[in-house]
Amino acid sequence: MNSLPLISLDHVSKSYGANPVLRDCSLKVAPGEIVVVCGPSGSGKSTLIKTINGLEPYQSGTIMFEGKVVGARSTDLPAVRARIGMVFQSFELYPHMTALKNVMLAQTHVLKRSSEEARARSLELLAKVGLSERAHAYPANLSGGQQQRVAIARALALDPIAMLFDEPTSALDPEMINEVLDVMVSLAREGMTMVVVTHEMGFARRVASRVVFMDEGRIVEDRPSAQFFEAPDTERARAFLSKII
Ligand code: ADP
Ligand code: MG
Repeated sequence: MNSLPLISLDHVSKSYGANPVLRDCSLKVAPGEIVVVCGPSGSGKSTLIKTINGLEPYQSGTIMFEGKVVGARSTDLPAVRARIGMVFQSFELYPHMTALKNVMLAQTHVLKRSSEEARARSLELLAKVGLSERAHAYPANLSGGQQQRVAIARALALDPIAMLFDEPTSALDPEMINEVLDVMVSLAREGMTMVVVTHEMGFARRVASRVVFMDEGRIVEDRPSAQFFEAPDTERARAFLSKII
């Protein structure tokens, strides 16, 4: 890795009560890298990415983003979060707002952009995700794939320098998965740094620099994607791959 990591986890552990969910996880993500995280349900994937932007505290180790320790008192967490876009499985759009308003909201509140400026940027982003025609639709009148593309536009509206995705296509009907993956592929090709929890191995093969495989809270493999798919190191990863491909 040539450049300094944008995101780094150094021996991070986390428990919920007595239940350890992250065990000694270390991971570095360089600017522009696309890291796909996969592994069985309950292995800690969601927890891992939520700790990166400070949505979940951790008990030991260090997480750094842009050289600042996430979770340190001296680090301005809202400022860190504004630099990291997050997209969840369940879209989480505001139901009483149009697609356009959903994309505008944080720009006026967090970045204090004027509403004209926010509107112009939102329309640009909705065009980027292929939804210019649906700008004035409410979430209930959009398909799942369209809602998720609005959620991506909303995350991009704060001009993040990294994006975290947590199973962004898992709640979608199969025919809508590709329209969301295509948007993610074009983001990846533009050089966005991305950590993506997904079991879409076609996406991983196309754009991932590395694949991280988790099991029982541990990072069991972290390898260039071609190597991971050709010959996973561990029996657990082989068994996992044989079930999902
Ligand atoms: P994954 O995303 O890989 O399915 P998660 O990170 O969601 O895994 O969960 C990892 C483990 O942590 C699971 O055993 C889960 O039950 C537990 N867990 C997740 N969130 C919470 C929570 N808020 N409180 C207690 N336990 C949790
Ligand atoms: Mg999860």
